[in-house]
Amino acid sequence: RTRRLSGFQPTGHLHLGNLLGALRPLIAAQGAAESIALIADLHAMTVEHEPAKVRAFALDQATIMLAAGVDPERTPIVLQSQVREHTELHYLLECVAAYGEAARMIQFREKSAAGGPVRLSLLTYPVLMAADILLYDVTQVPVGEDQSQHLELARALAVRFNTRYGETFVVPEGVRPDSAARIMDLADPLTKMGKSGGAGRLALLDPPEVLRRTVARAATDTVGQVRRDRERQPGITNLIDILAECTGRPPADPTSYAALKREVTDAVEALLAPIRARHAELSANPDFVRGVLAAGADRVRPVAAATVSRAREAIGLLD
Ligand code: ATP
Ligand code: MG
Repeated sequence: RTRRLSGFQPTGHLHLGNLLGALRPLIAAQGAAESIALIADLHAMTVEHEPAKVRAFALDQATIMLAAGVDPERTPIVLQSQVREHTELHYLLECVAAYGEAARMIQFREKSAAGGPVRLSLLTYPVLMAADILLYDVTQVPVGEDQSQHLELARALAVRFNTRYGETFVVPEGVRPDSAARIMDLADPLTKMGKSGGAGRLALLDPPEVLRRTVARAATDTVGQVRRDRERQPGITNLIDILAECTGRPPADPTSYAALKREVTDAVEALLAPIRARHAELSANPDFVRGVLAAGADRVRPVAAATVSRAREAIGLLD
């Protein structure tokens, strides 16, 4: 049976890219694959963070997941820090990972070049991510391009550990989410939409007015034709992709940029309005959401504990 792990960092408000690129594929696969939705709060602390915000974003992401249709009966929603085995396995994997491997990661090089102090945890982040994955015997990890190097490291560490110390970990495969769409920032369509996000981010809980304004201000071009051409028309291409992802069909053709933007606004609003409404209901009851997280952790902890116990034994620790 297919087992998957999908991770989200509570570093900000979830946005349309998270929904279309990760959350919706996870929800669509709930019948076929057994998924774990991981809210990776430990990862959110690898860069400068505000404690109260990490906590608030974590709870809010769980709420959004439920609002969007994650069924916690089929898909445990797990807060990383509530399953202690993540940090224990992290350490054991550090003992098979090399400094050079971690230092070579593109994301580490980019983020550490940004200036300011670099947390040691930023360097070891991919090893913690390897622990997240290997802990649950998952067979598949849906990853976007930005994470494929980290997944390769996780696979390499698993194989190395298994070879040196005996079969311990399932070696997972990376899979591209069925919807391959990579949603770009509307104001800057050459960079991906992100949580830290610029002016062109469509947050899932943005009120309709804000969504409308963000789409209205989306960067376009002077070509004057509505067609997919990522090279010459990145903004228009992104809008076409968003429309197609939201509605399942291409834009009405031929059409003006203004008409395209109206279609996109309507489609995004139609997709997000029910999520927003359900989120508002659930937010009135944070204890329910906390309960979902507690139940998720309880559910996966036995698998995590069994993996760590195998790893401890194999690597040479006394029981
Ligand atoms: P951060 O800026 O903190 O890295 P992020 O928006 O990249 O935030 P993550 O928590 O890193 O969000 O990723 C959660 C999931 O959403 C991952 O599966 C990731 O591949 C996917 N994802 C993130 N941004 C996009 C995007 N713009 N388009 C499609 N999928 C995305
Ligand atoms: Mg990211």
